[in-house]
Amino acid sequence: MNAMFATKISMLQHVCVVPLARATRHRSFIVSASASTSTTVTPSCNLTVSSPTSSSRAPHVDPRVLLGMSEHDLQQLAVDSFFKKKKKKPVPQAFRNDLIEAGWKIGRSPIYHTVTAADGTVKLLLKLEDNRLIETVGIPVEDEKGSMRLTACVSSQVGCPLRCSFCATGKGGYSRNLQRHEIIEQVLAIEDIFKHRVTNVVFMGMGEPMLNLKSVLDAHRCLNKDVQIGQRMITISTVGVPNTMKKLASHKLQSTLAVSLHAPNQKLREMIVPSAKSYPLDAIMKDCRDYFAETSRRVSFEYALLAGVNDSVEQARELAELLHEWGRGYHVNLIPFNPIEGSEYRRPNKKIVSAFAGALESRKITVSIRQTRGLDASAACGQLRNNFQKSPLVIESDREESQSDVAVAC
Ligand code: SF4
Repeated sequence: MNAMFATKISMLQHVCVVPLARATRHRSFIVSASASTSTTVTPSCNLTVSSPTSSSRAPHVDPRVLLGMSEHDLQQLAVDSFFKKKKKKPVPQAFRNDLIEAGWKIGRSPIYHTVTAADGTVKLLLKLEDNRLIETVGIPVEDEKGSMRLTACVSSQVGCPLRCSFCATGKGGYSRNLQRHEIIEQVLAIEDIFKHRVTNVVFMGMGEPMLNLKSVLDAHRCLNKDVQIGQRMITISTVGVPNTMKKLASHKLQSTLAVSLHAPNQKLREMIVPSAKSYPLDAIMKDCRDYFAETSRRVSFEYALLAGVNDSVEQARELAELLHEWGRGYHVNLIPFNPIEGSEYRRPNKKIVSAFAGALESRKITVSIRQTRGLDASAACGQLRNNFQKSPLVIESDREESQSDVAVAC
């Protein structure tokens, strides 16, 4: 690379790429591909367009969606866009116009519905390009100093194929994986609503993140590098998918991995989490131990307390034994179940929850009891997993299109 070219590249990085990454925070500049745009291949940057007719279930990343694209790919796009057109002083507006001209679509998924709870929690439904709805939740918490921590609880799939018995999203079926930009824009939508930056992100919305790991990792990169949310402020939650923890560990993220156990033994876990049949508890615990060895980040465990099912002191003792068998210093988040319509499960009373927590703590397991947030927001359209539960939501156009093609929101 000669000196002149290197200078131009660095100018592009500064003048074009950095503003582009920042600009994508703003609602008007999130770019996604037009399904109707004809295929274009730019040999020098390997940009290709996938067919709009490809299966909606495929976890593909549309390569013409800018949001979430790596810095390298953005640079390449800028180089192609500007050097080929011999523009000397690219400015973001010109770049933007060029992109529109080249068939890129600019804009984000619209907010279809919002529900605000008395405690300030806001639940949003975003309407995706294919008319499916996804749910995201903004949870504001004010600290002692008066500054606000704003957590975005994001979905990674439309619906979920794992069908955990207490989860309304699981009962509602599965449509498809989300693309990276569809994950990122949930966070940006929360920022728009609250007019405040999101400080924490939890992948605890609709779907199992480990079944859509590529998009989750791409979104994680963008949220960390471009939206500038610290890795330690991001939590990825999983109910357990074989052979994925090792893959995640290889990225050595500083984020928290939260594993949803919900039971202290395999038999009960299979009843609560049917997918546990293909991923025995011992195998999960071994993978958690290996994850710590690889990343130096201890996994935390989620445990939804279901009255009369998994909430006895004996079961707390069994859970403590299980955790001690596989390591030290584990932390358990207890989530008293929020009843959902039609569910056979009930919420345990406070005394039972305290007794369960006490039994863990007396065995040197640190415990948090999740505060229930946004109950009235949840009641309107389902509840989010862990803090909330989920319920299906079908929009009219989907109903007209196909009875079997159901949109789901948690
Ligand atoms: S709890 Fe999570 S993994 Fe289980 S069905 Fe619901 S969304 Fe899927």
